[in-house]
Amino acid sequence: MSDLPAYERDPYLKELATEIVETGTEGGRPFAVLADTIMYPEGGGQPADHGWLGEVAVVDVQRRGGVTRHYLQRPLAVGPVTARLDWARRFDHMQQHTGQHLLTAVAADRFGWPTTAFHLGEEVCDIELGAAALDPARLEALEEVVAVEIRAARPVFAQRVTADELAALEVRTRGLPAGHEGDVRLVEIAGVDRNTCGGTHVRSTAEIETIKLLAAEPMRGGTRLAFVAGGRVRARLGAHEARNARLRATLGAPDEELAAVAEAKLGQLQAAERRARGLEEELAEAIAAALAASPERVVSAHFESKNVAFLQALARRLGETAPGKAALLTASEDDRAFFAVAAGAELPVDVAAAGREVAALLGGRGGGAGRVFQGKAGSLEARPAALARLRELVDGGGRG
Ligand SMILES: [Zn+2]
Repeated sequence: MSDLPAYERDPYLKELATEIVETGTEGGRPFAVLADTIMYPEGGGQPADHGWLGEVAVVDVQRRGGVTRHYLQRPLAVGPVTARLDWARRFDHMQQHTGQHLLTAVAADRFGWPTTAFHLGEEVCDIELGAAALDPARLEALEEVVAVEIRAARPVFAQRVTADELAALEVRTRGLPAGHEGDVRLVEIAGVDRNTCGGTHVRSTAEIETIKLLAAEPMRGGTRLAFVAGGRVRARLGAHEARNARLRATLGAPDEELAAVAEAKLGQLQAAERRARGLEEELAEAIAAALAASPERVVSAHFESKNVAFLQALARRLGETAPGKAALLTASEDDRAFFAVAAGAELPVDVAAAGREVAALLGGRGGGAGRVFQGKAGSLEARPAALARLRELVDGGGRG
């Protein structure tokens, strides 16, 4: 048993005096191989451990051809070293992973739902169950039975058995990597589950603390069941509380009314936006009529707190109302400036060319379609020059 890595002999070991026996780089990442290690390499659905070799951070751990490589923030030399584990990260993985064993066992044995996949995510874990359309009441029952097994504080332990011994045992999964030779590692939850697994686990179901099912969604003829275990349940509840407190303060409503109040506010906002759009349309129509009545052939107007969409709408209306007029329209909103150049269908002016000249004079850029060209202006300082140039183009075009 002594050739087993330290993380397998004792998954609670947080520090180990060992030796760097090999160094190298892989894809530009420096790595070290240790005589023995407390850091679990990614595998079996469990992410890699993190930690430190001396003062140098270990950012990833992977198995490569039977050797465990510790990928380092900077290179280290061969020699004695103290390895320290990022224990918070590891214990979280142990809670989620052991939680998954228990959840899978209860779902299969008490509910007849076999697990087909497991994913330990950064925030949420999930298992895929080979069963469709799970009744919410039965999912609640599943969560309850799992809680009972957690409270029962059932011992969790690992052992190595030979292939012959394995054949004689009742084991949930016998999935072994292709080409597997020698002993098989079994992980057992006393009285509940026996499974082949190489991962790290807590020593009692009590250390899972709790499992909360989050959501069940159909997928590929089965169901993906999202859950969190242990510290993640408390962290998630804490985040929910903080978010609720902020929403209560913002919306001025108690927790149970937050969703209804938010929906009502959104409805009011949509109605206000519809009203504002209607008013802007009326405003554009009135301004277009006033500009159409002007004696000038090239008219001009500037608007505060209006955007390019308003200018575009106004320019189109003006084109419809007064096909013999051209216009330079500008607007400012917050720190931004906009412009639109329009020329009615009766004017032989190349609107795109005129628009590009105006854009250049205003230090901006834009584009257009039909008889309107609009865009953002860098500044409106050169507005008089832009208007003068537009007048030249229209009058020149008119004479030509
Ligand atoms: Zn496991």
